[in-house]
Formats: sequence, structure tokens, C-alpha cells
Amino acid sequence: MADATIVMKFGGSSVADAERLRRAAERIVARREEGHRVVAVLSARGKETDRLIEAAYEVSDNPDPREMDMLLSTGERVSCALCAMAINDLGHHAISLTGSQAGIVTDTTHTKARILDVRADRISAALDNDEIVLVAGFQGVSTTKDVTTLGRGGSDTTAVALAAALGAEECEIYTDVAGVFSADPRIVPDARKLSVVSSEEMLEMSSSGAGVLQLRSVEYARNHGVRIHCRSSFEDGPGTVVLAENQTMEHPLITAVTHSTDEARVTVIGVPDTPGAAGQIATALAEAHVNVDMIIQNEPVSKDTRADMSFTVPRDDLRAAHEALDSLKPVMGIGDIATDKEMGKVSVIGAGMKSHPGVAAKVFSVLGAEGINIEMISTSPIKISCVIAGDRVEDAVRALHSAFELSGEDTIRAEEPFGLPPS
Ligand code: ASP
Ligand code: MG
Repeated sequence: MADATIVMKFGGSSVADAERLRRAAERIVARREEGHRVVAVLSARGKETDRLIEAAYEVSDNPDPREMDMLLSTGERVSCALCAMAINDLGHHAISLTGSQAGIVTDTTHTKARILDVRADRISAALDNDEIVLVAGFQGVSTTKDVTTLGRGGSDTTAVALAAALGAEECEIYTDVAGVFSADPRIVPDARKLSVVSSEEMLEMSSSGAGVLQLRSVEYARNHGVRIHCRSSFEDGPGTVVLAENQTMEHPLITAVTHSTDEARVTVIGVPDTPGAAGQIATALAEAHVNVDMIIQNEPVSKDTRADMSFTVPRDDLRAAHEALDSLKPVMGIGDIATDKEMGKVSVIGAGMKSHPGVAAKVFSVLGAEGINIEMISTSPIKISCVIAGDRVEDAVRALHSAFELSGEDTIRAEEPFGLPPS
């Protein structure tokens, strides 16, 4: 369609070296030549963000978050400036913009900022002027005018937010994989590429370890009705479309198995068994911007004993969680804080399980048969997650993927039995 706006996002591996960057530039130009108004969001090149983080820790044990954002935001600026040069050499006009110049306004939470507003008038003006606009992903400017970043993987959210603000037809996310798979193909080589995923399933997948899309980008897309198309930047052909709404589609019982090996467990020992105790703990963690995932609290056996409370957090947040809980010790009279760094999580996701009992039973039995101990469990209407030892995660993924027969062209449909006797 002529004159429609399209937002393309290229991940770090798609701009890692000069040749790849030129290839991305060619893809962008091709879209422009089809008649689209093109905005491209770029990530930092290769592992640049990791390198910048390392550099920060080489000079400081506790880098100042504001300065961290100044540092990290440079990676995507480099990509955009270089890409603009490459595009200009292809005979088109491109301008690169920082997140701030692009009008991405965020809150003041450094290193994990949330987008509050997108003031895209500068982008619109450049598009009206026949320019291709390159926007540095993963960053914005706070309401107090500081540079902020949006959390790891945040360029996806930049792209979706711009697509929403510009009323783009589609937000294309170009990566080094061909789309969203039924499991990580590095662990399950015959994992299936999904052609369509509902946004509710994609939300669960992103929050349980599927690395393709940042969780916030999926939330943002669902809330603003943006259709995401995840595709390979190295080969042509369709990838995976994440539907903006839960349009009616036939839901397979199980769509995917996801995993994460970045989990840590924290146990607060001796929590007073009084109303409000859990609230105090959760508040302290929230104020430290720690993302708590699973929570287990056992009731004390007798009235005068205390409870233990365990939860999982991303391993990167462990230190912040520990500090937040330490500060509660004098206030609440809690006991020790035990941590376990090497936890993993495996999850089974599928919209079809809403109406089908027995999926949990099958998941637990499959893990049991593999001799894998389940340490914590959480469920949603369309997901079952188990926390297990980090070094058993790959075995668990393979066993579940095969037990639910997710390989091949067709997955099991919700209407079909799946190996358990009817109840
Ligand atoms: N460069 C940032 C990161 O590595 C943001 C992104 O690529 O989306 O997390
Ligand atoms: Mg990414």
C-alpha cells in the first residue's frame, strides 16, 4: 500500500558489522522504494550493550543509574548514525534521531524507564519531507529531561511505541531467528516456527523466557492495537505474526515450551505471621524495582511460629532484592535471607489449556519421569511454570516439547485428546 507508514526494527545481530548494517540499510531502502513512509529503530551493534555494562563495572562497583543510561544509550546512537550514512550512499535521505529527539518521553526510573508519551511530530515532519527516519532504540528522555533507557531488549518497545504513535500498519521486528518457535531451536532442533501467536500467549511467552520480544513491547502492542511481525533479517519469507487482539483463531492446546536460566530464589526466613507482613516485603521489593515472579509462602504449623516466604527474581535483580530485604530486618524483625542463584524455570503455554484440565498433571508427570524435582509452581489460565534446578532446564524443555508433540507442521488442537484419560 502506498504511503502507509511502516516501522522496522533491527536487533543487535542484524547490525553487528559493516556488511550486515549495509544489508539492513538495503532492506530499509527497499521498503521506501515500495512507497512506504519508513521509520527504522536500531539496537546497539552485536554485544555492545554488554560491553558498555562491563566497562561501567570496571570503574565502579555500583554504577550510578543516571550515568549508566548516558553510557548505554550511546550504543544505539552509533548504529543509527552509521546506518544513516549507508542509506544516504544508496541515494536516499535518512536522518538519525536519539530517543529524546524522536519524542520518546519516559518516567524517571533509570535503566528500566517506562514510556509515558510519544511526541512524534519531529518524525512526522521528516517523513513528510521524504526522509527515512532512524531512531535509536531502547532510550528516551525523562520528564525531568534526563536520558533514560527502557531495560534490556527495550528497542522492541521503542519500535512498537512508534508504530502506535504513527498509526503504522505493522511493526516489523527483524532478528537473527526466523520468528517465534515452539521452543528454543538451540535446545530443540525440530522446534516448529509458529506462523501466528495470540497476544495473550506471546505475553506469557515473553514473561517466561522467550527472548524474541521484550515483554513490555508485547504489552504495549496489545494495549495499542499494534500488529507485530517477527522475522529474519537474513532470509526472506514470513515470520511470526503476533496478533494485536485476541482474534478468533483455533487455539492449539499447547503452543510452546519456554524456559529461563536467569532465575534466582530468595527465601525470607521467619516472617512474622501477622496481617500486612507480605505487603511490607512486596512493597520493599517493588520500591527497589525488583520484578518478583513466583511467590510461595507457607503457613506456620503452630500459632507461635513464623512463616517462610520464597520468591524468584531475575538473577540480575538479586543484589537489589537482598539489599531491600536487609533494610526490612530492623523494621519487621524477619530472620535470615537465603538465596539460591542457579535456578531455572520451564513453562508450558497454550490458550487451549483454559478449557482443558489435566495439562498440569501431564507436565508434572513428564518432569517426574525425567527425575527432575519441581521446586516451585505457578499457573495462569494459559500457562504452567515450574522452577527447577538450572542445570536440568534443557532436559525439561526437550521432554515437554516431545510429550506434547509440538514438532512438525501441526500441533495438537484443543478438540483432540492428548494422552490423558477423559475425566
Ligand atoms: N541494546 C539493548 C540491549 O542489548 C536494547 C536492545 O537491543 O533492544 O538490551
Ligand atoms: Mg531483542
